[in-house]
Amino acid sequence: MTDETNTVYVDCDAGRRLGCKTFCCRLLVKLKPHEMEKRDDGLPAKGYVGKDTNGLCVHMDSETWLCKIWEDRPETCREYSCNTDFLLQVAIREGFTNIVDLARKASVSYIPKETYIKVPLIQEETPAVVELADAE
Ligand code: SF4
Ligand code: SF4
Repeated sequence: MTDETNTVYVDCDAGRRLGCKTFCCRLLVKLKPHEMEKRDDGLPAKGYVGKDTNGLCVHMDSETWLCKIWEDRPETCREYSCNTDFLLQVAIREGFTNIVDLARKASVSYIPKETYIKVPLIQEETPAVVELADAE
């Protein structure tokens, strides 16, 4: 579900309850040209959001697990839907310790499409959520 800015309204609270572990904030987040900040040292502007030493987005509050710049998050974050990402299926079922671990698990996982677990959308009246217990 999108609006004129292509924002996807994924219910992230529900996603976390399902076990997504907010894996999306460990992915590479590309910045649009107008979002890139000019640098004083003359080097090219960074095209991606930075990561901390744990591989988490620098804007993630690791205590609350909430985005510290939610209202101003990059367009890539606004447009992302984990429901179209196979990694979501693996993260929910198998968990992970870091994004490399998740990618490795995904590379050897087979999950039938009919058992896919969906994170509901906030504006969806009847969320098509498949309970984890039903999918096992
Ligand atoms: S977009 Fe998906 S993976 Fe990311 S926090 Fe929300 S529910 Fe979790
Ligand atoms: S900017 Fe916010 S929503 Fe985007 S990856 Fe970072 S913490 Fe997640």
